[in-house]
Amino acid sequence: MELYREDAYLRDAPAEVVALTEEGGIVLSQSIFYPTGGGQPGDSGWLEWDGQRLPIATTLKGEAGASLLVPAEPASLPPVGTQIMQELDWERRHRHMRMHTALHLLSVVVPLPVTGGQVGAGTGRLDFLMPEPPQDREALEQALNRLVDRDLEVSDGWISEAELEARPDLVKTMSVQPPRGAGQIRLVRIGTGTEQVDLQPCGGTHVARTGEIGALKLGKIENKGKQNRRINIALV
Ligand SMILES: [Zn+2]
Repeated sequence: MELYREDAYLRDAPAEVVALTEEGGIVLSQSIFYPTGGGQPGDSGWLEWDGQRLPIATTLKGEAGASLLVPAEPASLPPVGTQIMQELDWERRHRHMRMHTALHLLSVVVPLPVTGGQVGAGTGRLDFLMPEPPQDREALEQALNRLVDRDLEVSDGWISEAELEARPDLVKTMSVQPPRGAGQIRLVRIGTGTEQVDLQPCGGTHVARTGEIGALKLGKIENKGKQNRRINIALV
């Protein structure tokens, strides 16, 4: 079970080890560790059991989308069936949540198709189908910070694949199509009612309100080929 998807604010939770992979990865019965995907890095943290504490370097996507925890060092792993406590490197993850949500806002103030993106712990970027550079950098940065200051609510829900098929306008990202096949797709909404500014399919972790992102700084705008431009932003 993907606990990080139910509640992005869970910093620790108990679980049982259900599998160890040949490559040394650990699969838990329920995971608060987000696996690398959708431009967001996998979580790091620790597992604890019987007085042992094992650092987790990152998390990858294993079979059927399960979180595959990758230990930071070759150490003795908890055997299958062990009851453990999992704990996130919360400071790092929370910065990912802030930056990830900030990139949604960037896609609002730059209403062009997104061709790629990457979330970091202090910086992030989106690539846009954008033949001409933006005219006014300052206006862009101000618009971004205004959305932060409005402290809009961030919420999520699910729609069926059929409903999404009927609403192709919801998908902004050309390179990362939302995961399909499970029948249901997660939608992330920023703002509610007449205050809604963004609605798109996304499987990542977000902050609960845009105010939690804090001030944002516009970074370099780079040419990435004829049609593409990369816009970098940073947490202040
Ligand atoms: Zn997202």
